[in-house]
Amino acid sequence: MFFLFFNLCIGTLYSQDSHREYFQQETDYKISVSLNDSLHTLSGNISINYENNSPDTLNFIYIHLWANAYSSLETKFAKQRAQTEKDFQFSSKDERGYIVTSEFFVDSLLAQTSYHNNDKEICKLTLPSPLLPNSSINIQTSFLLKIPKLFSRLGHSDNAYYISQWYPKPAVYDRHGWHTMNYIDYGEFYSEFGSFDVEITLPENYFVAATGVLQTEEEKLRIEKRVIETLDDNFEHKMESSDNYKTIRFYQDSIHDFAWFADPRFLIRKDYVKLPTTEDYVETWIYYRPENTPFWKNANEYLNSAIWFFSSEIGHYPYSQCTAVDGSFDIGGGMEYPMITLIGNSDSKSSLERVIVHELGHNWFYGILGFNEREEPWLDEGLTSFYENKYFQWKYSSLKFNHQNLNLKLSDISKIFSPYSQEYTHHLATQYFTSRNMEQAMSLHSEEMHLINYFYLNYVKPLAVFTMLEENIGKSNFQLIMHDFYNDWAFKHPQTSDFKRHLEDEANKDLSWFFDDILEKNKKIDYKISKVKSQKDNTYKVKIKNKTGVEAPLTLDYISEDGKIIKTENLDGFKGKKGFEISPEENTHSLFVNSSFENLELDRYDNHARLKGVFKRFRSPSVNLFYSLPNINKNQIYVLPILGMNKYDALMPGIAFYNDPAIIRKVDFVFSPLYSFKTNEWNGFFDIGYNIRPQGNFWGNVRVGLNGRKYSYKFLDENREWFKLAQEVELNYKPNSKMIENQTLIRNIYLSQGVHIWNSNPTIVIDDTYIKRRNYILLNIHHKLKRHHKINPYQLDFDLLLNDKFYKTSLTYTSRHYFKRKFDFEYRIFAGYMTPHYDTYYSPGFKFQTSGISAKSSGDSDYLFDEVFFGRSETSGFWSRQMVQSEGGFKTYTPLGNSLWMSSINASVSIPRLEILRLFAGILSFDKANEQLQNNEIFLYEAGIELRLWKDALSVSVPLLISPDMKRIENLYGHKWHNRIRFVLNLKAINPFIINKKPHYIAL
Ligand SMILES: [Zn+2]
Repeated sequence: MFFLFFNLCIGTLYSQDSHREYFQQETDYKISVSLNDSLHTLSGNISINYENNSPDTLNFIYIHLWANAYSSLETKFAKQRAQTEKDFQFSSKDERGYIVTSEFFVDSLLAQTSYHNNDKEICKLTLPSPLLPNSSINIQTSFLLKIPKLFSRLGHSDNAYYISQWYPKPAVYDRHGWHTMNYIDYGEFYSEFGSFDVEITLPENYFVAATGVLQTEEEKLRIEKRVIETLDDNFEHKMESSDNYKTIRFYQDSIHDFAWFADPRFLIRKDYVKLPTTEDYVETWIYYRPENTPFWKNANEYLNSAIWFFSSEIGHYPYSQCTAVDGSFDIGGGMEYPMITLIGNSDSKSSLERVIVHELGHNWFYGILGFNEREEPWLDEGLTSFYENKYFQWKYSSLKFNHQNLNLKLSDISKIFSPYSQEYTHHLATQYFTSRNMEQAMSLHSEEMHLINYFYLNYVKPLAVFTMLEENIGKSNFQLIMHDFYNDWAFKHPQTSDFKRHLEDEANKDLSWFFDDILEKNKKIDYKISKVKSQKDNTYKVKIKNKTGVEAPLTLDYISEDGKIIKTENLDGFKGKKGFEISPEENTHSLFVNSSFENLELDRYDNHARLKGVFKRFRSPSVNLFYSLPNINKNQIYVLPILGMNKYDALMPGIAFYNDPAIIRKVDFVFSPLYSFKTNEWNGFFDIGYNIRPQGNFWGNVRVGLNGRKYSYKFLDENREWFKLAQEVELNYKPNSKMIENQTLIRNIYLSQGVHIWNSNPTIVIDDTYIKRRNYILLNIHHKLKRHHKINPYQLDFDLLLNDKFYKTSLTYTSRHYFKRKFDFEYRIFAGYMTPHYDTYYSPGFKFQTSGISAKSSGDSDYLFDEVFFGRSETSGFWSRQMVQSEGGFKTYTPLGNSLWMSSINASVSIPRLEILRLFAGILSFDKANEQLQNNEIFLYEAGIELRLWKDALSVSVPLLISPDMKRIENLYGHKWHNRIRFVLNLKAINPFIINKKPHYIAL
């Protein structure tokens, strides 16, 4: 609903605005600022000439004060950061930052300011008199900025200063109105073009790398001296500090942001590059820390070749210099600013080159073509990643992984995963995402993306899409079109709609398959070869079917016997089926639609067919141990010897057969027979599923599956077998920016247990006086809502279990809250209700259990056989102590309380600084409690110590205090306090077959 509503709003906004002429405002800055490196503050004055080129009269101007993103734990930045990191939430006040401004003057008149919606990052400056079209004003104020510790882009790490997004900055006013935005980690910027005249006063011993060209002669000499020192391998760097201050000045026009980085330790290297087709030179500078010399020594060369490459592919670099700065932070990656980039720590020269080339490339796609990075992140990141990849293909073509050879071997792995070649790793990432149907639409605003999608949609997928576009338009034509686009839009703010219009006009093609179907509607591309028929004169009739209706261009590749591509034909997209007549060369063995790894094809397995033979689309099976890379020519099956084990079957050697667990096929399966030499029975498990992957922006993957398990257990001291068969539908929903994962699982479960029960119920007519098997069928509906968060993760579980005789329903809410980095409180609220049921011969006790699922209750509490127990029927001994916290959630085992309704609260708190050790307590009430408990009590309670050894997978609990009734039962059995010790061993949390099917959330 939200998306629909949002699209409607945007739709009307844009249609209203579509007749508006393009215009852009101009902002010319004069800033003088001084750094205090003991207080970590900047104080300064700013004067902005603001030119209103819009047709509108402006009564106010929004001004961003982004340093205030670090001023409290409630800002948008703080909240987004808490999804992935604990650091900012537990920072001290001294480590945070802020900016305060004094009064604003507009053309020397005092002007009113207020925070927009009480948001300290957005200041609304009311102009003393309206600003008419084609006129300008001067805005002045002074400011004090407290530099935060380096959490994000602006910050300091001791005396290294990373100064970005730091000065009061007018928001962009364009065809669509004002673009105010908060500062965030995952979401970038949009700023007005103009000039910057910046004076920085700071202690003499610092070196400053900045946007813009240095104007101070004395400082130029100092830097020249440093360049010479840097070249001297024996130069001893002393970390001198200085009480003397210097003022240095930088100037640049035609830019939209200004960043600077100061560090006394910087070594400096300088070089030049000549631009293609002109006589212009660009100075290239690198600033780095002495300890990173091995990687950085040759970094000028990366800048030189990248400037040359981007200039020839897109258009000339328009500034006189370009700088890369070693940021020495551990987050990896880098950040783009006009004419300067900040680079995180690298682990190799090649990865340093990749990051430098990427960030430098942003000069074209953000710096010069001033895209709105926040609203249309796919444009700047996508185009930058596309050209970054082209650069590596161009520069290292000899190292390029030859993806024309379609028979991949594991021995190719070093080439495949070489930093010089990313096609194949990107292909694997694309297949990983599309096969799980996790991706959101590429056109989304960065704040609407789930983090994992932020990376996939902005960096990986656009690369594939632009490669397809380039192939469809033709490489040289595409280059011309991009040159024109650059010339038309340099130093302006082009949008997706402008880019679309430009591409469609110049290529003379309808690109709605891309801009509408893929970008907006999130549809997938899926062609298949449906028929190959030989005709006379060595010609063939080929039929290709479009399975999804996205009219994307496609390639038809002619493949030789040894898997090489002989010829590629580019075809325009079509709907439905289309026939082609081809006359292949003699050595053509087979045909392949969309064979390229840079293609977004959803299911490539039906894209391949041989020219000759009866079964032209037959792929021979291949059996691989554990895992190997996907091979399109084969029906790959993986095998893995495994050893199952439980108390009743003892050791069970066996084998698991499965298909690709990483890139999920339309039909996925795992099948694992295990043989028990103790019972001489075949046991094991299987799971087979059909993945539907609906199109669009609501559903994630929908999987229809069938699974089963069979093992032994003990009933009345005798080993018996049980088996389970479940038909299920797993409904996943698209992930969202709130990091909330939703899943509904509907299961029809058939269970059969060997039992031995005396039939004392005359109404049940059976041949024997003993019931030998207990069979039952249950329908289970479970919905899980899970929020991934570093400070406050939570999960809500709704469960409904029913058959024709009863229903049982419950709601469980589990939440954890961190008060300190290693001090958290966790609680769980449970409430459940069920109708009575009496058929105890054919079903186990379904009642709510105080002590959750445990081995101790003869295995009956795990009546769905969902859990993994080593000794599920043990009533005494070590393995009887295994438990799964569910229902009443008590850690103490007690038969008390089991009933038709139940509600409980379980809580635990960690001992500060000792995450592993926790105190827990629980309280529970249930149906007819006062009849079961003495003294008309209505509650049971417990408290004790828990050792959490391995997150959710392994923990031990020692209940120390229990309610008198529980104690009474305990005494009845002659049990002592240490008999209460139980443990959680959640093998499901470490079962590779389960882990692999779930989406992974990368921690950043
Ligand atoms: Zn980027």
